[in-house]
Amino acid sequence: MTHGFMTHGFVYLIGAGPGDPGLITVRGRECLERSDVVLYDYLANQRLLAYAPPHAELIYAGKVGGSHNREQGQINDLMVAKAREGKVVARLKGGDPFVFGRGGEECEALVAAGIPFEIVPGVTAGIGAAAYAGIPLTHRDVTTSVAFVTGHEHPDKATSEIDWERLSLGSGTVVFYMGVKNLPQITANLMRHGRDPQTPVALVRWGTHPEQEVLTGTLADIAGKAAKLSFKPPAITIVGEVVRLRETLRWFDNRPLSGKGILVTRSSDQAGEFASLLREQGAIVHECPTISILPPDDHAGMDAAIAALSGFDWLILTSVNAVGHFFRRLAAHGLDSRAIGRCRVATVGPKTAAAIRAYGIIPDLVPADYKAEGVIALFREQEMLGKKILYPRADRARETIPVELTALGAEVVAPVAYRNALPDGIPTEIVAALEAGRIHCATFTASSTVRNLAALAGENRLLRLLDGVVIAAIGPITAASCRELGLEVHLEPETYTLEAMVAAISRHWRR
Ligand code: SAH
Repeated sequence: MTHGFMTHGFVYLIGAGPGDPGLITVRGRECLERSDVVLYDYLANQRLLAYAPPHAELIYAGKVGGSHNREQGQINDLMVAKAREGKVVARLKGGDPFVFGRGGEECEALVAAGIPFEIVPGVTAGIGAAAYAGIPLTHRDVTTSVAFVTGHEHPDKATSEIDWERLSLGSGTVVFYMGVKNLPQITANLMRHGRDPQTPVALVRWGTHPEQEVLTGTLADIAGKAAKLSFKPPAITIVGEVVRLRETLRWFDNRPLSGKGILVTRSSDQAGEFASLLREQGAIVHECPTISILPPDDHAGMDAAIAALSGFDWLILTSVNAVGHFFRRLAAHGLDSRAIGRCRVATVGPKTAAAIRAYGIIPDLVPADYKAEGVIALFREQEMLGKKILYPRADRARETIPVELTALGAEVVAPVAYRNALPDGIPTEIVAALEAGRIHCATFTASSTVRNLAALAGENRLLRLLDGVVIAAIGPITAASCRELGLEVHLEPETYTLEAMVAAISRHWRR
């Protein structure tokens, strides 16, 4: 990206927030959107990388270098080097960059190199994870202060920089970062310096992520409990009476689908909405694309139609993908919506209609039944003799529209606007999650999703992978396709919508 005012490079030190991608700041997102290079950490949610522009170079900072110290030096050097090339660098760090994030050191390196920067604060893990665990860090009736402390320092060392006596008695709530390994020493030190052994403690692991786990106990027993469960980082440790409030204020990890792994098999372009609905119910969504939407092998058909656009009476667009590829091809010729002129526009359903409206065009014809048959019925009411119709479609689309409209006397041109292809395989992390039993429910929203999954896995392997997994199919046709492949269908919503599907899955686990 070129910035007239930024020819010498610039670094944004951005707090990514604690995990939930919704917890990045508006400013943080803006800065990511204008970056040329993103240097991101292990704890920054990688879903945020989608905000970076397509040309941006994405570098995982965890992979740079060997030992921890050299690693930090190399990250600083890389940041400086990229900025000196004139790039806008987004340094994306988990939580807040200035809370145990070594952001201070990175800024010092920038100052030393004379590189301008901006610091975008983030929701630190202590605050984010506490909120999602239902633990207010302060409460008027319980405590008036909170301290953030590193638990990384070896607490036995003689020169401890932590003043355990003041910490134990001085701060109502104490939040330890990086303290899971040292939990026995941390709790022992607090008790030795006067903190009541019955003080409640919560460990919050992967806070604000759908995988969030919370373990509660007291100063006296939490270390033993954590050891027994082999509780692993990353986690924060919250010590103080406020932890009791979780009993009443818990809200995030007790939703209908909390802790449930759900497989989403929609085509890659369309998985987003369904996944969001599931995540709102607490699900851990595993996205396994079963269709790749690709541009056509050959643009000749579309290009000829676009060249003759002014001669058409109707443009029929029957999917969001068709809309996207049609307007993308127009743009490739330097054209926009105005190119369709007085040609009228027909579509099949509200989603496609909304996609068309996004290009500034109000569809002239939207049938009530969301199907090709509905469009045809509406055209039957019109004089179609000699009408020219453009129908950009998928490579393997049903022939219903061309056949029926030709029968009405119209001339239909139906170029291939996009292709449906099988992806390369099932992503390895999905296979691993299935084999480990971390996926509790597999969802199928069209016959093609289950058939393609079977094609990707092999039929027998599909049955083995989905053994013991609850199968949800959106409607009777999809359910029949599941059964043909030997799968038992456990859930079928009453209406064929994504919302009803999510409701049916939630109901299954509420029982
Ligand atoms: N700058 C970061 C902290 C980096 S230190 C921030 O402001 O949050 C790394 C430690 O942060 C981890 O060891 C863990 O204690 C804590 N942490 C980070 N993300 C976390 C999360 N999602 N849940 C619980 N703890 C987290």
